[in-house]
Amino acid sequence: MNNEKVRVRMAPSPTGPIHVGNLHTSLFNWLFARSHGGTFVLRMEDTDRERSRREWEEVIYQEMRWLGLDWDEGPDIGGPFGPYRQMERLGIYEEYARRLLETGHAYHCYCTPEELEAERREAQLKGVAYLYSRRCRNLSEAERRRREAEGRRPVLRFAVPDGETVAFDDLIRGRIETPTDSISDFILVRSNGIPVYNFAVVIDDLTMNITHIIRGEGHISNTPTQILIYQALRAPLPKIGHVGHVLGTDRAKLSKRNGDAFVGEYRERGYLSEALLNFMVLLGWTPMHGNEFITREEMIGEFDLSRVTKAAAVFDPAKLDWMNGHYIRQRDLASLTELSLPFLQRAGLVGEEVGPEERGRIHEIVHLEQERLKTLADLPKLTDFFFKEVIEYDPAAVKKVLTPEARKLLGDAAPRLLGVEPWESARLEAEARALVAEKQQTPQAVFQPIRVALTGRTVSPPLFETMALLGRERCAKRIRAVIEGGVN
Ligand code: GLU
Repeated sequence: MNNEKVRVRMAPSPTGPIHVGNLHTSLFNWLFARSHGGTFVLRMEDTDRERSRREWEEVIYQEMRWLGLDWDEGPDIGGPFGPYRQMERLGIYEEYARRLLETGHAYHCYCTPEELEAERREAQLKGVAYLYSRRCRNLSEAERRRREAEGRRPVLRFAVPDGETVAFDDLIRGRIETPTDSISDFILVRSNGIPVYNFAVVIDDLTMNITHIIRGEGHISNTPTQILIYQALRAPLPKIGHVGHVLGTDRAKLSKRNGDAFVGEYRERGYLSEALLNFMVLLGWTPMHGNEFITREEMIGEFDLSRVTKAAAVFDPAKLDWMNGHYIRQRDLASLTELSLPFLQRAGLVGEEVGPEERGRIHEIVHLEQERLKTLADLPKLTDFFFKEVIEYDPAAVKKVLTPEARKLLGDAAPRLLGVEPWESARLEAEARALVAEKQQTPQAVFQPIRVALTGRTVSPPLFETMALLGRERCAKRIRAVIEGGVN
């Protein structure tokens, strides 16, 4: 690479939260900037007046911050190439539109939607791809004035040259060539003065000195159009690469239907941002060392477009769960407890105010589950018996484990078990194992009824630590309820 400083960008429309699909290309851009000591620009494509909202902008910032993807220039922090919202840049587009008009690369088109629709239908009948007829391309001044007098407001179209080839070397896919004869005289500016995406994005990239455009393969077909604008302006072309789509497990492009979700939904579903990032970076990119777990610093150190594949990558939710479990185990307990609190609060297990003593207890509870948690959202249902006075019993567990014999065994064991001093897991375990030996039972035959009596289920965190944490009083109450036949 030459000495030119890398400048890349992410250009979302503030019309909704960020999808994981957007996150994928944003992450690659961010990594590319960070790995080259470059600049990551965030700007808003807010020309859809109906759907663009400042609130969505805020959501995008929040989600990017949660992921730790920081930006160096943007609408909220400014920068030397601002403004960073397209609607605040209309004057800039106007100036470039005028230049294209003056150099004969663009022209006003007065065709009405009905006229265009008729052209389109005709092409359809003939079975050919629709290209605008260029009816307005060579209007005389008088013809233009006549149309203006009729009250028609023109759009600005690009005059696509005939018989040429637009070519570029895609950073990921190699050379891509498109004959200009297949490109319609496309619209640059709508009749209301607002530029279309293909025009505004070029002017933004050009005036913000963007050096590399890394985006999804869905934009490949826009690229020749955009290159024509660069050429008409005699502007240097940034390097361009198209990353493969992210597919659902059904191998269709990821969408709402097959599991695409907003970044914020993953946070709400209990995924850690480091797990989501690690998972996303492996979609279409392979780290050098082959180890799937890769820290943010390693990603930055290693990221390289040459190992990005053009093939689509499949978003496998089971793998994300697995990675999330790994990152949950890696987290220090204090931060994991902090992250867990909102989940316990939302489930109504913990109040808004959490005092130091309760926090300490939650810390212990999280510790007991840390090994087997896949998402933080699993925590409430796995641990609710620690928080509730009255617990629910799984009917299948009661039927299978709390048999009459088991209840009798519990009755015999209860006084000794509940009298253990001090109330500690090691002491409880020693007492329970002594009972196993005396009764000549298997450990399971003794431990399982205790587990079901205390937790309502057959699977729980380690039994004696669970007992220690529940406390003598609660254990006594639950075991007595079973012995006395109150649990059926
Ligand atoms: N707003 C467009 C998108 O998010 C930007 C496309 C581009 O990167 O050129 O798809």
